[in-house]
Amino acid sequence: MHWRANLLMLRSPQAIVGFLLLSLWPLAFLLAALWLIGFLGGRGGAPHPLLGGQPLGIAAGVATLVGFLFLQHIAFSIALVRTYAPCVRKAIRESGVPICLGCGQLLHAPDAASCPECGIASDAKDASGGPNRR
Ligand SMILES: [Zn+2]
Repeated sequence: MHWRANLLMLRSPQAIVGFLLLSLWPLAFLLAALWLIGFLGGRGGAPHPLLGGQPLGIAAGVATLVGFLFLQHIAFSIALVRTYAPCVRKAIRESGVPICLGCGQLLHAPDAASCPECGIASDAKDASGGPNRR
């Protein structure tokens, strides 16, 4: 199931680009923050703000790292839900389980025109026509 979902996602350039954009933007924040505290922009002979051992520099470095990890975690979660989850739902559907592609709700009445949970038009008929087609 996992592999199927991965394959489905790899076949969709839109999902890949979306995933990268959604999950990598905190890197821009990290680089900007590092640049701001002088990590990347050399300041002549000034002591390094982090390696110089000044408490403020160390605090700024730690705060930046924690902030980055926090943002990265959130961004990654959002990216997974937005781009990967639909592929997982599709893979589950293709294995014969009639679930909604929009929200993952199990469709007890596959003939219903739309999902009772999220209202997305359901085309579950074709996928749930028979038991496990592989
Ligand atoms: Zn739904």
